Amino acid sequence: MTTPFDDKLHEECGVFGVFGHEDAGALTALGLHALQHRGQEAAGIVTFDGAQFISERHVGLVGDIFGKEGHTQNLRGANAIGHVRYSTTGGSIVRNVQPMFADLSGGGLAIAHNGNLTNARILRRDLVREGAIFQSTSDTEAIIHLAARSRYEFVVEKLIDALKRVEGAYSLVALTSKKLIGVRDSYGVRPLVLGKLDDAWILSSETCALDIIGADFVRDIEPGEMVVITVDGIESLHPFPPKPRRFCVFEYVYFARPDSVVEGKNVYEVRKRIGMELAREAPAAADMVIPVPDSGVPAALGYAAASGLPFELGIIRNHYVGRTFIEPSDRIRHLGVKLKHNANREMLEGKRIVLVDDSIVRGTTSQKIVEMVRDAGATEVHFRIASPPTTHSCFYGVDTPNKQDLLAHKLDLEGMRNFIKADSLAFVSIGGLYRATGEARRNARIPQFCDACFSGDYPIEPTDAGEFRRQLSLLTEVV
Ligand code: SF4
Repeated sequence: MTTPFDDKLHEECGVFGVFGHEDAGALTALGLHALQHRGQEAAGIVTFDGAQFISERHVGLVGDIFGKEGHTQNLRGANAIGHVRYSTTGGSIVRNVQPMFADLSGGGLAIAHNGNLTNARILRRDLVREGAIFQSTSDTEAIIHLAARSRYEFVVEKLIDALKRVEGAYSLVALTSKKLIGVRDSYGVRPLVLGKLDDAWILSSETCALDIIGADFVRDIEPGEMVVITVDGIESLHPFPPKPRRFCVFEYVYFARPDSVVEGKNVYEVRKRIGMELAREAPAAADMVIPVPDSGVPAALGYAAASGLPFELGIIRNHYVGRTFIEPSDRIRHLGVKLKHNANREMLEGKRIVLVDDSIVRGTTSQKIVEMVRDAGATEVHFRIASPPTTHSCFYGVDTPNKQDLLAHKLDLEGMRNFIKADSLAFVSIGGLYRATGEARRNARIPQFCDACFSGDYPIEPTDAGEFRRQLSLLTEVV
């Protein structure tokens, strides 16, 4: 769900898990707090206390939910998994909050999932025909139904059996009465890392959540790998056919927190290097470089360093615009972007500026920001974007508008410049983006990335989209 003041793509989920720590529930709440940028709509934690599974799943921000008296204290046990969720489309959202839990014949299974299954609707249709009764509209539940129907005896085998039938992108954590499990799909589209806190094992979408609890980073979970953690240690399985590695390059552009290290690369450093590439590819005669805060800051620093132009904060962000402003009245809607960003007039007056942002989705916010900067006295606005034009929708766990609503799908570069009303507009090239990550595109080296929202080169067939002939999302209501 995009607020009226926010024209970004959004990651739909973050996951976290702890095995073997007496404060597992509280540590998971802290971990989810660090992953809040991956989902602000709802959060949930499931623990196992040696006898039973305990669940707290609520709508709201992590701090509001687990800061409350009782919610974290209820979460007894040394093992836990948690989830933050971005958004939902209509209907009741509480039933979609993860982790999801079910009693299977081999024992209880809780799952928290980041990603999107590209055949979830077909699976769901088939499962419903076979008599499955779904409680939620989330495709995570399809994994649970598939595991429940598996003929294998043990829960881990059931989960592997279920995952062999799903297609798409997933990084998930699962909890049984005796095991913490972490799995990444064979393409490794979404991140998942392993950490250690004393004797406890940690799984997390990003390393920033390891830092918050003082855990050490051990390694990335490999694409197609399943780790099974028990009191006897950690076992690494590779039950799925290997595929070419295609990590989501947009994690570096915008989704991941800049202090995280994903797939061996510090996100902040990559973003700065994207800005440097952008400066080389698209220089501008200007007086200063201004970021659209916060997400444009690292790339703007890189652009300033490579161009020799001064970096200044010409736009100040209000960090306290929250979900309270999701539905402003029509009378104040026109204020829009100013509630989140305000121009620093003293800095901008009479200046030619390079304005740096991470991406353009619909272009509506970009247009308003350019207008705001001009109203504050900037004489020229050269808009520079630290990603290639977003021309295609994502099917792998990112909330994207329909392709037809993406500015870069509708208009060419000059058309976009006209729409945004900038003096010049440039995007970093796909080659420049890859160079910034330290990888070369389309050669034999690995890892390659998924860059489908820039190129239309989808590594995983969006099966549902073909079948149902429309854009799908993780959270689409399914009939
Ligand atoms: Fe990431 Fe774009 Fe690929 Fe989606 S389509 S996984 S946002 S690179």
